[in-house]
Amino acid sequence: MKLTDPVSDLPFVGQTYGTRLKRLGIETVKDLLYHFPFRYQDFSRQAKIKDLWVGNEVSLKGKVKEVANLRTKTGKFLTKTVIEDESGAIDAVWFNQPYLNRTLKEGAEIGLAGKVDSFSGRTTLVSPEFEILRGREALHTAGLVPVYPETARLSSKWLRSRIKPLMNELQAGDPLPQELREKYQFPSLLNALPQIHFPQNSVEAKKARQRFAFEELFNLNIRSLLRKKKWQEQKTPVKIERRKSEEKLQEFIRNLPFTLTKAQKRALEEVFQDMTKEVPMNRLLEGDVGAGKTVIAAAAVYLTFLNGARSILMAPTEVLADQHFKTLKDLLSPYGLKIALHTGSHKEKDGDDFDLWVGTHALFYKNGNFGKVGLVVIDEQHRFGVRQRAQLFKKAKSREVPHILTLTATPIPRTLALAVYGDLDLSLLDELPPGRTPVKTYIVPPAKREKGYLWLGKKLARTDGQAFVVCPLIEESEDDSLKQVRAATAVFENLQKTLPKLKIGILHGRLKSREKEKILESFRKGETKILVSTPVVEVGIDVPNATVMMIEGAERFGLASLHQLRGRVGRGEKESFCFLLTESEEKPVLERLRALEKEQSGFALAELDLKLRGPGEIYGTVQHGLSELKVANLTDNQLIKEAREEAQNYMVENDQEKSN
Ligand code: ADP
Ligand code: MG
Repeated sequence: MKLTDPVSDLPFVGQTYGTRLKRLGIETVKDLLYHFPFRYQDFSRQAKIKDLWVGNEVSLKGKVKEVANLRTKTGKFLTKTVIEDESGAIDAVWFNQPYLNRTLKEGAEIGLAGKVDSFSGRTTLVSPEFEILRGREALHTAGLVPVYPETARLSSKWLRSRIKPLMNELQAGDPLPQELREKYQFPSLLNALPQIHFPQNSVEAKKARQRFAFEELFNLNIRSLLRKKKWQEQKTPVKIERRKSEEKLQEFIRNLPFTLTKAQKRALEEVFQDMTKEVPMNRLLEGDVGAGKTVIAAAAVYLTFLNGARSILMAPTEVLADQHFKTLKDLLSPYGLKIALHTGSHKEKDGDDFDLWVGTHALFYKNGNFGKVGLVVIDEQHRFGVRQRAQLFKKAKSREVPHILTLTATPIPRTLALAVYGDLDLSLLDELPPGRTPVKTYIVPPAKREKGYLWLGKKLARTDGQAFVVCPLIEESEDDSLKQVRAATAVFENLQKTLPKLKIGILHGRLKSREKEKILESFRKGETKILVSTPVVEVGIDVPNATVMMIEGAERFGLASLHQLRGRVGRGEKESFCFLLTESEEKPVLERLRALEKEQSGFALAELDLKLRGPGEIYGTVQHGLSELKVANLTDNQLIKEAREEAQNYMVENDQEKSN
């Protein structure tokens, strides 16, 4: 049996089970063997029947001495057996499983595991796990018995029975290099597999698990390093010189309405250095909401322009594209750049002669030519696929690829980001511009909801602040679903009744984009005081005068999303508030929301979220390598670091071997 063999070749798999396995992504023998148990049932205490007493959790072996099918007083079907071993006999009973008498026959050799109880006044095994042994070793009722995540109608028992026989039949090389196995004292693949599925003890299971965690991380790193290597075989279509542009760049920076933070200066330097190389830049600029990523992008666009090439900036939504268009126009048109907006609903009519194109993915489908593109900036990279990103605006069949700068506010801790985005270089904005006040954050239970809104009404009537009200997330979707829109409309109408004196606007994905623009414009100008919206505002709207963020159904959002939403306020120097409205009283939910009350940093929250809920939740449907990590614990920084270092060494050594 080989790892690459299809599972459908295994005995007892067949079509029905084949389909169920496929639903779990299990198609080959390897997939099956890498479907690891998430815990073990401890049946390692083997007992003799004479030593049993009520309350024991035990595992034993014996023979079926008697079988009787009975009815209880309440009409239940009862299978009553007597089991014996050398030391004595005990009753074992099962309820409502009439078909048991097909397998449980007198004289059968049987393994049992479960709790000893009292039944009709007698010491009895009540509904224990059992298996007929027929001379085989016990698989389900002795030792540490693996428990698999039971989905797609595949029981642990079924999986065990398929996996066990493979343990002796497998022929496979080890995907982990021997040196590494020795260095870290990891078991070989052929030892680790039985040790993780059917361990002798918990120490063995732990060691095997660690090996597989390392293997996952190692492979993840190798893959991203290979992508990086491939990337480096490419060239940029434009040569960018910094020296002749330096003075103008400095002037641009001097004329900004603020001083750059240290982190911004560092990031800018890293970006400029990349851009003067022949190998195209592939850099991820990671910074908390409000950290000031846009201005870095603007400076890179300016440098490109000064070298006679054009830039493209892609945003994930039209609202954001509009906003970027305005911001960048303000920043860059004084320096002579011509800027166009291109989205699904707004096409530039004035030809192709622009220095910067701002838009959504509609840019992919634009007719005509962008001209010589030297830089592509992608805001909020997780909305676009990795492959899509790499292929962006690459000239067909050529090795010429523009510089790519990706901006993200998803606060992935550094070590983890390096593992996942190992093919990207990383700049971190780990510092917010000065003058930001922490956003006061409170959980609001249903009893205080009404009061909260009345407070908001009073506050807005008194001061010139503004507020966002974000509606609960009902469905995950790029555009707003109809349900989502209805929910927002209901909140909007309600609010109009509660606060009739204030101008309230509503924003959702089903509005025509001209309407959206109008609503946003009115909010930006401060005419609209409250903006009710579906969760689309999550990404990037910048309205410094907004000081209150109300989040309805806060329990439906992950910590990272909540943090992003909160980042919409607290941008000026005014005191800002974030209210987390929730009806939930569940402990884990409240724990998550309380973390927001206490913590302001996105990076700290991300790490916490990882611990509380695991990566699937924090990053949502994010497309990257994290979702394929099954055993690796993402809070294990040590192992993540080691795997990365070893993958790097391995790549270097392999290159040397090849060139020798
Ligand atoms: P994000 O990183 O979330 O995209 P933005 O680039 O939208 O953040 O910046 C948020 C706000 O902070 C903008 O209004 C921007 O003008 C302002 N800003 C950026 N850098 C600085 C700075 N160094 N000092 C003060 N304000 C800044
Ligand atoms: Mg932004």
